[in-house]
Amino acid sequence: MKIRSVGIVGAGQMGSGIAHVFAMAGFDVMLSDVAQPNLDAAIASIDRNIERQVAKGKTTATEKADALGRIKTTLQLSDLGPLDLIIEAATEREAVKDAIFKDLAPHLAPHTILTTNTSSISITRLASRTDRPEKFMGFHFMNPVPIMQLVELIRGIATDKDTFDTLLAVVAKLGKTSASAEDFPGFIVNRILMPMINEAVYTLYEGVGSVKSIDESLKLGANHPMGPLELADFIGLDTCLAIMNVLHDGLADTKYRPCPLLTKYVEAGWLGRKTKRGFYDYRGEVPIPTR
Ligand code: NAD
Repeated sequence: MKIRSVGIVGAGQMGSGIAHVFAMAGFDVMLSDVAQPNLDAAIASIDRNIERQVAKGKTTATEKADALGRIKTTLQLSDLGPLDLIIEAATEREAVKDAIFKDLAPHLAPHTILTTNTSSISITRLASRTDRPEKFMGFHFMNPVPIMQLVELIRGIATDKDTFDTLLAVVAKLGKTSASAEDFPGFIVNRILMPMINEAVYTLYEGVGSVKSIDESLKLGANHPMGPLELADFIGLDTCLAIMNVLHDGLADTKYRPCPLLTKYVEAGWLGRKTKRGFYDYRGEVPIPTR
């Protein structure tokens, strides 16, 4: 099946990045959210990010204008129904995702492929509550989407070969690389990455190191481009906590228990860069460690 039109649910950091790369690759995009300011912010951020690529000579002003012209926004989820492919990129809560697929159901065209950008929730379980588990897949982009090369493709137990092959072709058209992962909590990237971030938070919680020394240690001692706490702020601490909870519940092993300090930051509403405070305070000129 050839995909031409793509609906994206959720215009947060992932949804806007996904809209950006699909529009640049020539797909028609419809971006939806529950609040108009989120849609406006998403378009403004896509505009800024493509402008940066223009400034670097990676694309042209004409290509930018064409791409922005291919993105439409809506507050009506039903507008996405007739499109070829839907990518759900809303908040990482199973009840939110279930409600979205339920609300979409009466409006879907028979050929529409449903996907979710979930970082950790069971694809098979989400698929089982839709009318088309065979046309349902995990389509996991990395953050920031325009920069990161990998897309994880996760088949649920019922996903058919046509759906998988269609998404393989879409990833190729985006100029990205796919890795196939089995449908177990966290798939590949987050199964490995999140326990490392959680361990960095424990290291901070137990006073082994400060925010600065932990991040510097991993940057200079393990050659990571970003420290784990800086990366956690970048991903969003609510998303990190949600993924740890999925690993903990889904794999039933105490080694995945979320650090109480991570929970405390989320309770404070200090969710990282998106709220301007997390393990660093981003409200000034330069990020300042908060511990
Ligand atoms: P975010 O908080 O930046 O954005 C979520 C958006 O979803 C918000 O704009 C919110 O208004 C919207 N939303 C909530 N309920 C909705 C509904 N019913 N209908 C439409 N929109 C709704 O979150 P994010 O970081 O963009 O994460 C989105 C998804 O992508 C999550 O499933 C997350 O696990 C996954 N993901 C995140 C990252 C990351 O690094 N942040 C990486 C890969 C995958």
